[in-house]
Amino acid sequence: MLVHLSDIVSQEGKCLKTEIPLALETIVAVGDTYKVVEQKPLQLMIVNTGDKVLELKGRTDVVVRIPCSRCLEAVDWKFSLEIERKLDMKQSEEDRIKNLDESDYITGMDLDGDRLVCDEILIQWPLKVLCKEDCKGICSKCGQNLNHGECDCEKGSLDPRMAAISDIFSKFKEV
Ligand SMILES: [Zn+2]
Ligand SMILES: [Zn+2]
Repeated sequence: MLVHLSDIVSQEGKCLKTEIPLALETIVAVGDTYKVVEQKPLQLMIVNTGDKVLELKGRTDVVVRIPCSRCLEAVDWKFSLEIERKLDMKQSEEDRIKNLDESDYITGMDLDGDRLVCDEILIQWPLKVLCKEDCKGICSKCGQNLNHGECDCEKGSLDPRMAAISDIFSKFKEV
């Protein structure tokens, strides 16, 4: 949903507090599309600190379904977002793009709440998502989810952590 900014931009010292509903369906991150399963309205506070500069604070919770990095089972990952941005409304849109300010959530005098939240989620995108701390992963031979029980494959190495270490050693050997 859009928040119109021209009122607050024209009034120095003005503070706007608002709550806007989000309508995120998916997040495109690291080349894949992920489903948004839960989202709270974005609580937004915008302050005109003078000289057409806006200070923006927002908070919301968004839950995104991401597969576990080891076993690929779906994990509902909660992003608790605290957003803080500064916006110089003196800059034209072209200026902002030129200065590589990532404020693509502003078009003219409209702030796009969904885009702002999406931006912040990408900044906080986790490097690794695990369904549980000690997820056993999947068997590299038959693909069985080892959290659900052992498979019948012969195991070269039992512990996935050990497997990772032997990977590193075999890389050294190749050199
Ligand atoms: Zn897992
Ligand atoms: Zn197996």
